Amino acid sequence: MKPVIALVGRPNVGKSTLFNRLTKSRDAIVADFAGLTRDRHYGDAKQGGREFIVIDTGGFEPEKPTGIVAQMARQTQAAVAEADAVIFVVDARLGVSGQDHDIARYLRTANKRVLLAVNKAEGMQDSPVLAEFHELGIGTPHPISSAHGQGIRSLIEAALDDF
Ligand code: GDP
Ligand code: MG
Repeated sequence: MKPVIALVGRPNVGKSTLFNRLTKSRDAIVADFAGLTRDRHYGDAKQGGREFIVIDTGGFEPEKPTGIVAQMARQTQAAVAEADAVIFVVDARLGVSGQDHDIARYLRTANKRVLLAVNKAEGMQDSPVLAEFHELGIGTPHPISSAHGQGIRSLIEAALDDF
């Protein structure tokens, strides 16, 4: 079976842009993968010769005042549960937010390999902003640009290492 990578993060960080890049918008969906249900957004992805399934999520609702775990749509928790690795996407332009901390706290309890992708980082290679994301406690930030296709390959290699 192909490994499964879930994309999570608050709205507007670029999860769907990354999903589309990984799947080349083929968006080939996937009724046929054992154990995967159909109410999430699955795609068939290939990167650097590796094939995997990627799950897009949109389950974090920013306008609700309750904690992130309560806010988190069931579909997002389910996506994490069925993933082999999780890519937690944050926004290099906006920096670390309280909601990022809430999501990070949840992900640390999820017992999954979690990669931190700092998206929208085109032109920010040397920016000190990138180092701030260490404070999320998710490990080394991987700067990427989903829009421009930068940093994606090494992110996916790290996510799929030893799968
Ligand atoms: P989602 O809500 O997390 O799925 O985010 P979207 O993929 O819908 O993207 C939100 C916004 O960020 C859109 O306007 C995208 O064009 C923009 N965006 C996504 N990736 C990048 C990126 O790498 N660089 C920049 N500058 N903008 C991006
Ligand atoms: Mg989206």
